[in-house]
Amino acid sequence: MGRGVIALTGPGFVRVEPLPLPCRVAPDLFFTGGAAAEGEAAAVCAGCVWMADCRAYALERPSLQGVWGGLTQDERRRWRNREGQRRRVATKAGAA
Ligand code: SF4
Repeated sequence: MGRGVIALTGPGFVRVEPLPLPCRVAPDLFFTGGAAAEGEAAAVCAGCVWMADCRAYALERPSLQGVWGGLTQDERRRWRNREGQRRRVATKAGAA
């Protein structure tokens, strides 16, 4: 079976073939905000076969809101900050 097609435009507006996305069942959960809803959304993501792709997609798009790939917007922002710092250190080390 092929891997299918993923077209991410938001957890509630994703078309995937042949596998359905878990977040389509309750899209509001991913945008409600608050620790309880975010935790529940992240738990749904944990069982999603697209999590790695979804997370990578969201990490490249800072303007996205809600839970994507199991991470909240704040978690993704912190990840980008850490990654930026890691790259700066690596660049400095490479230049030395
Ligand atoms: S990882 Fe989460 S937000 Fe992304 S497609 Fe899967 S269920 Fe939806």
